[in-house]
Amino acid sequence: METIARGVHDRVRGDRIVEVWFGSHREPFKTPASRQAKSLAGRAVLAVHRTGKHIVFELGAADSADSASAPQAQWIVHLGMTGRLLVTAADAPLAPHTHARLHLASGRELRFVDPRRFGRLEFRSLKKSKPFEGPGDEPLTIGAGEFAALFHGRRLPIKAALLNQTLLAGVGNIYADESLFQAGIRPRRRTNRLTAAEFERLRKALLQVLGHAIQLGGSSVSDYVDANGMRGFFQLEHCVYQRTGEPCRRCETPIRRILVAGRGTHYCPQCQQ
Ligand SMILES: [Zn+2]
Repeated sequence: METIARGVHDRVRGDRIVEVWFGSHREPFKTPASRQAKSLAGRAVLAVHRTGKHIVFELGAADSADSASAPQAQWIVHLGMTGRLLVTAADAPLAPHTHARLHLASGRELRFVDPRRFGRLEFRSLKKSKPFEGPGDEPLTIGAGEFAALFHGRRLPIKAALLNQTLLAGVGNIYADESLFQAGIRPRRRTNRLTAAEFERLRKALLQVLGHAIQLGGSSVSDYVDANGMRGFFQLEHCVYQRTGEPCRRCETPIRRILVAGRGTHYCPQCQQ
C-alpha cells in the first residue's frame, strides 16, 4: 500500500485533473460518482500518501493551478481486495473493470480498476469536513507502550486483533501471519495472555515485515499491483503464508493451516508457542 501511494505520488504530484469519467455501473462509492466527477475536475494534485489501507490524494482549490497551496480537498481511495490505481497514457487500452478515469493536464490518465468492486472512493472538501484519518494506529510509528496498550484487556486471538483495522491500520493477512512467525507467537494465543516481552517481539516483527514488504514492492498474493502495473516480489520470501505442509525454514516442521477470525492462518507448530 505504501509502495502504491509512493508510486502514484511520484507520477502525478503537481499535475492537474482536467476531466473525470466514471463507469456506468452502480458503485458502492461513499460519494456519488457524479458529485466526485464534478468536485475533482480542475484541481491540482498536491501530494499522495497512504493512511492505513487508504490512498489519500491531497488536492488544491477548484480551478487553481497553484500546486504549492494548502490542501483544500481530498480524494480518498480504498483499494479493497482487488483495486488498482494506474497512471497511463490517455490512449492506452482500457483494462476491463475500469471504473474511473481522471484525465490529467499532462495528457496522461489516472485510472481506478477493480474487478471485484470492493473498492471505495470518496471526495472530501476540507472546508466542510475534517481531513481523513485512518481508523487505527499506524504500525510503522507506534511505540512499545502504546502497542501493548492497544491490546490490553482483550481476549480475542492475537491474529484476529492484528487484523482488526480499528486497532492497527493496514496489517493484512499475509503480514499478520509472517509477523507472528517472526515473533514466535501462535496465532490463536489470547491477547490477554501475552507477556510484555512477547508484545515487544511482535511489534518489532511487524516493523520488520512491513518495512521489508515496502522495500520489495508489496505482496502480489492479493491481486494488487503497484502504480506501474508491476507485481510485487514479496511472495518469494514468505516463511509461513500459503506454505501449508512445506517445511519450516527454521526447523523443517511442516507448516500448519488453521482458520482464525475466518481467515486462513499459517504457522509453525514448533517455532511458535
Ligand atoms: Zn519452525
